[in-house]
Amino acid sequence: MFDLTGKVGIVTGGNGGIGLGMARGFAKAGARVVVAARNEEKSAAAVGELRALGSDALSIPVDVADEASVDALVAKTIDRCGRLDFLVNNAGINIRKPPDELTLDEWRRVMDTNLTSAFLCSRAVHPHMKARGGGKIINIGSMASIFGLSFAPAYGASKGGIVQLTKSLAVAWAGDNIQVNAILPGWIDTDLTRQGRKSIQGLNERVLARSPSGRWGNIDDFSGIAVFLGSEASSFVTGAAIPVDGGYSSLG
Ligand code: NDP
Repeated sequence: MFDLTGKVGIVTGGNGGIGLGMARGFAKAGARVVVAARNEEKSAAAVGELRALGSDALSIPVDVADEASVDALVAKTIDRCGRLDFLVNNAGINIRKPPDELTLDEWRRVMDTNLTSAFLCSRAVHPHMKARGGGKIINIGSMASIFGLSFAPAYGASKGGIVQLTKSLAVAWAGDNIQVNAILPGWIDTDLTRQGRKSIQGLNERVLARSPSGRWGNIDDFSGIAVFLGSEASSFVTGAAIPVDGGYSSLG
């Protein structure tokens, strides 16, 4: 049920952080993982790690905010792997500023990287999945899909949008046997949050105080949910937004 032997999937931002945690899960379940990000050195290291886990992994550079680059990623994946079974829209950035200080260019950079990218990648994979008789799309939201963060207005809007995009794609493509779901990570120890942990006073303490699990998440906390949502095990799960947060969003 959870076996991904012979399956091929793209993980955007799969060269580090949560994307790499999910890619490790896919690799251990037998999938061929396409690591899709900009930094080719980091991607090569990730591919080496995934190969050591038994995946015939490869990397294809992409800028997910660029339509032509996304279309080329999907075309190259089909060309080199011959099929495409799952896509993870994981690449993301944050620009931490209060709303009154955020420029239009910064707003657009965050929206393009976090939200428009998921639309572009999903649209590009759809015809291939439909032609094969089905597929899986996993979008990465955030606690900012649920809560307001005063220092992340564009990030919050992009992550709220991810949940609604997930539902729209899920209902549009259910008839094509394509399941589309979102994961909402809690506070996870990655490059993205390490900077914030240093620069936002009290953040570390607030996260620990509010987390029933009493710890930050780590990237391997995402291996299992990725395999579940990428495999036949979740064949009747679609349009869901699943928190993976150690209970953070459940605490009243
Ligand atoms: P990282 O900064 O570790 O990873 C971000 C990844 O996105 C990198 O692999 C980066 O690769 C890639 N990326 C960024 N911009 C682009 C682009 N334009 N084109 C292609 N790839 C890009 O962060 P996380 O692992 O923490 O974040 C992964 C996802 O999880 C994001 O969507 C984030 O919003 C979400 N998330 C993270 C949380 C956390 O606490 N860490 C909490 C909630 C959600 P490269 O630079 O090589 O392109």
